[in-house]
Amino acid sequence: MLRRLRFQVESSRGRRYPEAGHPYRNAFQRDRDRIIHARAFRRLEAKTQVFTPGLSDHFRNRLTHTIEVSQIARTVASALELNEDLTEALALAHDIGHPPFAHAGEAELDRQMARYGERFDHNLHALRIIESFEQRYARFPGLNLSFEVREGIVKHSRDFEPGEIPELDDYLPGLRPPLEAQLIDLADEIAYNTADLDDAFSARMFSAGEVAAAVPEYAALCEAAETQFPGASERERFLETLRQMIDLLASGLIEGTAQAAAGADIRDAGEVRRCPRRLAAFTPAAESANAGLKRFLHQRVYSAAPLVEERERAAARVARLFQYFVEHPGRLPEPYNQQAALDRPHRVVCDYIAGMTDAFFDRTYQQEMDYPSEILT
Ligand code: MG
Repeated sequence: MLRRLRFQVESSRGRRYPEAGHPYRNAFQRDRDRIIHARAFRRLEAKTQVFTPGLSDHFRNRLTHTIEVSQIARTVASALELNEDLTEALALAHDIGHPPFAHAGEAELDRQMARYGERFDHNLHALRIIESFEQRYARFPGLNLSFEVREGIVKHSRDFEPGEIPELDDYLPGLRPPLEAQLIDLADEIAYNTADLDDAFSARMFSAGEVAAAVPEYAALCEAAETQFPGASERERFLETLRQMIDLLASGLIEGTAQAAAGADIRDAGEVRRCPRRLAAFTPAAESANAGLKRFLHQRVYSAAPLVEERERAAARVARLFQYFVEHPGRLPEPYNQQAALDRPHRVVCDYIAGMTDAFFDRTYQQEMDYPSEILT
């Protein structure tokens, strides 16, 4: 469909440290494999998506969410005849920089860094992980991923202008990323809006009827499911409707992107870059369904008291451990304690905490808060 806009692996700007080609895996396939074998990727399993594990064994975590994003993004890329390998590598990497405790952890690290005039951003943190924190190769630091994968990571949710983020000036500021990278942000939205609805429904935060009353597109799909399966239980109808909703959003992304490309008269991957706006887009109908779901989730799920309390508790603990390590850098493990002596300690502490899984954070917090204060230096 958009074959002419496909980013060809042969046109990649390549790796930072040149490497010989592989006999049967192209560069983007190798990037995908390197991401899957990274430690930061495995840690996604023990990081919260929205719902803390423990309440149920069925909630998404950040790893299963990542797999859902990858599956949706690949389906869309393949239907549009775009580069599925690049899409998959980017989808698998898209949350690799997420700290523990989801957005509460990210917002608190950012708040702590702001006290020192700096920021925490999970996309920039992802770049630091794949560029230097992952140490798996004898010949170079990091994973030595292709340029377009690194670019897609830093432009996951937004583009930037020259000079706006000086440390990213190598990543073609002012230009759009390839269409494959543009898809990821919207595939991410499809995955989390539908998955959060599913997880919150399992947690009995609302009834299917309440979703139907708030989101007209959901109501229409639900009515169709009721006609088709008159004897089905509420849960079965909900799941049938949810499945149709994913289909509606993914199809809306395929169609909307094809229409945007046709409307802007874009002819090749180079023009995708120079286009003043992103081309990946929902159709108006899918956009409205997506916005409706998002609104419902904000009202009924994210702002529900148990989730708010959990986020506040997580943020307070992140803040406390952060300040504790800044004041007592000697309590950081190797090599962070040595780096903290050379670099800005708050940056080292931020990197250390950002890499933690929820469970490792809890253990560290417990251990350090129990550490006798009279022998702290
Ligand atoms: Mg995500």
